[in-house]
Amino acid sequence: MNLVRFMNNRVPPNKRYQPTEYEHAANCATHALWIIPSLLGSSVLHFQSEDQWERLSAWVYGAGLSSLFIISTLFHTVSWKKSHLRSVEHCFHMCDRMVIYFFIAASYAPWLNLRELGPWACHMRWLVWVMASFGTTYVFFFHERYKLMELICYTVMGVFPALVILSMPEQSGLYELLAGGAFYCLGMVFFKSDGIVPFAHAIWHMFVATGAAIHYYAIWKYLYAQPSNQVQTSR
Ligand SMILES: [Zn+2]
Repeated sequence: MNLVRFMNNRVPPNKRYQPTEYEHAANCATHALWIIPSLLGSSVLHFQSEDQWERLSAWVYGAGLSSLFIISTLFHTVSWKKSHLRSVEHCFHMCDRMVIYFFIAASYAPWLNLRELGPWACHMRWLVWVMASFGTTYVFFFHERYKLMELICYTVMGVFPALVILSMPEQSGLYELLAGGAFYCLGMVFFKSDGIVPFAHAIWHMFVATGAAIHYYAIWKYLYAQPSNQVQTSR
Protein backbone atom coordinates (compact mmCIF):
# COMPACT_ATOMS: atom_id res chain seq x y z
CA MET A 1 0.00 0.00 0.00
CA ASN A 2 1.30 3.43 -0.88
CA LEU A 3 1.27 5.41 2.37
CA VAL A 4 2.50 8.58 0.70
CA ARG A 5 -0.97 9.51 -0.55
CA PHE A 6 -2.03 9.83 3.08
CA MET A 7 0.38 12.69 3.69
CA ASN A 8 1.58 15.87 2.01
CA ASN A 9 5.11 17.14 1.50
CA ARG A 10 7.14 18.40 4.37
CA VAL A 11 7.31 22.20 4.69
CA PRO A 12 10.16 24.48 5.79
CA PRO A 13 10.26 25.27 9.54
CA ASN A 14 8.67 28.72 9.12
CA LYS A 15 5.60 27.31 7.30
CA ARG A 16 2.68 25.26 8.59
CA TYR A 17 2.25 21.72 7.34
CA GLN A 18 -0.98 21.14 5.39
CA PRO A 19 -2.54 17.82 6.44
CA THR A 20 -4.35 15.67 3.87
CA GLU A 21 -8.10 15.06 4.25
CA TYR A 22 -7.33 11.71 5.89
CA GLU A 23 -4.94 13.36 8.32
CA HIS A 24 -7.42 16.12 9.16
CA ALA A 25 -10.07 13.51 9.97
CA ALA A 26 -7.62 11.52 12.11
CA ASN A 27 -6.50 14.67 13.95
CA CYS A 28 -10.09 15.45 14.91
CA ALA A 29 -11.05 11.88 15.80
CA THR A 30 -8.03 11.09 17.96
CA HIS A 31 -8.85 13.84 20.43
CA ALA A 32 -12.66 13.99 20.05
CA LEU A 33 -12.73 10.39 21.25
CA TRP A 34 -11.45 11.50 24.66
CA ILE A 35 -13.86 14.34 25.39
CA ILE A 36 -16.59 12.21 26.99
CA PRO A 37 -14.16 9.96 28.95
CA SER A 38 -12.34 13.03 30.31
CA LEU A 39 -15.61 14.63 31.43
CA LEU A 40 -16.75 11.35 33.02
CA GLY A 41 -13.34 10.83 34.63
CA SER A 42 -13.41 14.34 36.08
CA SER A 43 -16.83 13.79 37.62
CA VAL A 44 -15.66 10.50 39.16
CA LEU A 45 -12.93 12.46 40.98
CA HIS A 46 -15.48 15.06 42.06
CA PHE A 47 -17.76 12.42 43.57
CA GLN A 48 -14.87 10.63 45.27
CA SER A 49 -13.62 13.84 46.90
CA GLU A 50 -13.66 13.76 50.68
CA ASP A 51 -12.96 17.40 51.41
CA GLN A 52 -12.91 20.80 49.76
CA TRP A 53 -9.24 20.53 48.67
CA GLU A 54 -9.87 17.25 46.92
CA ARG A 55 -12.96 18.72 45.27
CA LEU A 56 -11.13 21.87 44.16
CA SER A 57 -8.24 19.83 42.77
CA ALA A 58 -10.69 17.52 40.97
CA TRP A 59 -12.30 20.53 39.30
CA VAL A 60 -9.04 22.19 38.33
CA TYR A 61 -7.58 18.95 36.99
CA GLY A 62 -10.84 17.98 35.27
CA ALA A 63 -11.10 21.41 33.63
CA GLY A 64 -7.52 21.18 32.32
CA LEU A 65 -7.96 17.62 31.08
CA SER A 66 -11.31 18.13 29.35
CA SER A 67 -10.44 21.49 27.83
CA LEU A 68 -7.29 20.03 26.29
CA PHE A 69 -9.35 17.54 24.28
CA ILE A 70 -12.25 19.93 23.60
CA ILE A 71 -10.09 22.82 22.37
CA SER A 72 -7.83 20.54 20.36
CA THR A 73 -10.87 18.97 18.65
CA LEU A 74 -12.36 22.42 17.95
CA PHE A 75 -9.10 23.69 16.52
CA HIS A 76 -8.60 20.67 14.25
CA THR A 77 -12.21 20.85 13.07
CA VAL A 78 -11.88 24.56 12.23
CA SER A 79 -8.52 23.99 10.55
CA TRP A 80 -10.09 21.21 8.45
CA LYS A 81 -13.45 22.71 7.51
CA LYS A 82 -13.01 26.47 7.99
CA SER A 83 -9.39 27.07 7.07
CA HIS A 84 -10.48 29.93 4.75
CA LEU A 85 -11.42 31.91 7.90
CA ARG A 86 -7.78 32.70 8.52
CA SER A 87 -8.06 34.80 11.67
CA VAL A 88 -10.57 32.41 13.30
CA GLU A 89 -8.29 29.50 12.53
CA HIS A 90 -5.28 31.41 13.87
CA CYS A 91 -7.16 32.19 17.09
CA PHE A 92 -8.11 28.52 17.61
CA HIS A 93 -4.54 27.47 16.91
CA MET A 94 -3.31 29.86 19.60
CA CYS A 95 -5.88 28.52 22.08
CA ASP A 96 -4.83 24.96 21.20
CA ARG A 97 -1.25 25.86 22.16
CA MET A 98 -2.20 27.90 25.25
CA VAL A 99 -4.36 25.17 26.73
CA ILE A 100 -1.33 22.84 26.83
CA TYR A 101 0.29 25.04 29.51
CA PHE A 102 -2.86 24.95 31.61
CA PHE A 103 -3.21 21.25 31.03
CA ILE A 104 0.32 20.68 32.38
CA ALA A 105 -0.32 22.87 35.44
CA ALA A 106 -3.67 21.17 36.01
CA SER A 107 -2.09 17.70 35.75
CA TYR A 108 0.30 18.57 38.56
CA ALA A 109 -2.30 20.35 40.70
CA PRO A 110 -3.75 17.27 42.47
CA TRP A 111 -0.26 16.02 43.43
CA LEU A 112 0.89 19.44 44.60
CA ASN A 113 -2.36 20.23 46.44
CA LEU A 114 -3.09 16.89 48.04
CA ARG A 115 0.31 15.54 49.00
CA GLU A 116 2.49 16.72 51.80
CA LEU A 117 5.31 18.92 50.49
CA GLY A 118 8.46 20.34 52.02
CA PRO A 119 8.76 24.04 53.00
CA TRP A 120 10.33 24.95 49.65
CA ALA A 121 8.55 22.48 47.45
CA CYS A 122 5.12 23.82 48.48
CA HIS A 123 5.81 27.00 46.47
CA MET A 124 5.47 24.89 43.35
CA ARG A 125 1.69 24.96 44.01
CA TRP A 126 1.45 28.51 42.74
CA LEU A 127 4.61 28.51 40.66
CA VAL A 128 3.10 26.10 38.10
CA TRP A 129 0.29 28.60 37.50
CA VAL A 130 2.78 31.45 37.09
CA MET A 131 4.66 29.31 34.55
CA ALA A 132 1.41 28.48 32.74
CA SER A 133 0.53 32.19 32.59
CA PHE A 134 3.95 33.06 31.21
CA GLY A 135 3.64 30.31 28.60
CA THR A 136 0.21 31.58 27.58
CA THR A 137 1.48 35.15 27.29
CA TYR A 138 4.41 33.92 25.23
CA VAL A 139 2.05 32.13 22.81
CA PHE A 140 -0.07 35.28 22.55
CA PHE A 141 2.88 37.42 21.44
CA PHE A 142 5.18 34.97 19.65
CA HIS A 143 2.86 32.24 18.38
CA GLU A 144 4.61 30.09 15.74
CA ARG A 145 7.57 32.47 15.52
CA TYR A 146 10.20 30.48 17.39
CA LYS A 147 8.99 26.91 17.21
CA LEU A 148 11.96 25.36 18.97
CA MET A 149 11.55 27.83 21.82
CA GLU A 150 7.91 26.74 22.19
CA LEU A 151 8.98 23.12 22.46
CA ILE A 152 11.60 24.03 25.09
CA CYS A 153 8.97 25.95 27.11
CA TYR A 154 6.63 22.94 27.10
CA THR A 155 9.44 20.62 28.15
CA VAL A 156 10.58 22.89 31.01
CA MET A 157 7.00 23.33 32.18
CA GLY A 158 6.44 19.57 31.93
CA VAL A 159 9.61 18.44 33.69
CA PHE A 160 10.37 21.15 36.27
CA PRO A 161 7.45 20.48 38.69
CA ALA A 162 8.23 16.75 38.50
CA LEU A 163 11.46 17.46 40.41
CA VAL A 164 9.33 18.58 43.35
CA ILE A 165 7.14 15.50 43.12
CA LEU A 166 10.29 13.35 43.23
CA SER A 167 11.19 14.92 46.58
CA MET A 168 7.82 14.12 48.20
CA PRO A 169 7.95 11.97 51.33
CA GLU A 170 5.06 9.87 49.97
CA GLN A 171 6.25 8.33 46.69
CA SER A 172 3.37 6.13 45.54
CA GLY A 173 2.29 6.86 41.99
CA LEU A 174 5.77 7.94 40.92
CA TYR A 175 6.16 5.16 38.35
CA GLU A 176 2.88 6.07 36.71
CA LEU A 177 3.89 9.73 36.64
CA LEU A 178 7.16 8.86 34.95
CA ALA A 179 5.49 6.46 32.51
CA GLY A 180 2.95 9.14 31.52
CA GLY A 181 5.76 11.67 31.09
CA ALA A 182 7.68 9.21 28.91
CA PHE A 183 4.66 8.96 26.57
CA TYR A 184 4.54 12.75 26.19
CA CYS A 185 8.29 12.86 25.44
CA LEU A 186 8.15 9.99 22.92
CA GLY A 187 5.13 11.61 21.30
CA MET A 188 7.16 14.75 20.59
CA VAL A 189 9.10 12.78 17.98
CA PHE A 190 5.84 12.50 16.00
CA PHE A 191 4.85 16.08 16.82
CA LYS A 192 7.91 17.07 14.79
CA SER A 193 7.38 14.50 12.00
CA ASP A 194 4.65 16.07 9.85
CA GLY A 195 5.34 15.17 6.22
CA ILE A 196 7.80 12.45 7.19
CA VAL A 197 5.44 9.96 8.87
CA PRO A 198 1.84 9.73 7.60
CA PHE A 199 -0.65 10.69 10.35
CA ALA A 200 2.23 11.98 12.49
CA HIS A 201 0.04 14.54 14.27
CA ALA A 202 -2.70 12.01 14.99
CA ILE A 203 -0.06 9.64 16.39
CA TRP A 204 1.17 12.51 18.59
CA HIS A 205 -2.45 12.93 19.78
CA MET A 206 -2.58 9.27 20.74
CA PHE A 207 0.64 9.54 22.73
CA VAL A 208 -0.84 12.55 24.55
CA ALA A 209 -4.05 10.66 25.28
CA THR A 210 -2.10 7.65 26.58
CA GLY A 211 0.09 9.83 28.81
CA ALA A 212 -2.99 11.62 30.11
CA ALA A 213 -4.78 8.31 30.74
CA ILE A 214 -1.85 6.96 32.77
CA HIS A 215 -1.70 10.20 34.80
CA TYR A 216 -5.45 10.11 35.35
CA TYR A 217 -5.23 6.52 36.58
CA ALA A 218 -2.46 7.48 39.04
CA ILE A 219 -4.38 10.50 40.35
CA TRP A 220 -7.56 8.46 40.73
CA LYS A 221 -5.80 5.51 42.38
CA TYR A 222 -3.35 7.22 44.72
CA LEU A 223 -5.08 10.49 45.54
CA TYR A 224 -8.81 9.73 45.35
CA ALA A 225 -9.67 6.02 45.46
CA GLN A 226 -7.64 5.33 48.60
CA PRO A 227 -8.99 6.72 51.86
CA SER A 228 -6.97 9.82 52.71
CA ASN A 229 -4.63 8.54 55.39
CA GLN A 230 -1.93 11.05 54.62
CA VAL A 231 -2.88 14.13 56.58
CA GLN A 232 -1.99 17.22 54.59
CA THR A 233 -0.53 19.30 57.37
CA SER A 234 1.02 21.89 55.11
CA ARG A 235 -2.17 22.93 53.29
ZN1 LIG B 1 -3.30 18.62 17.58
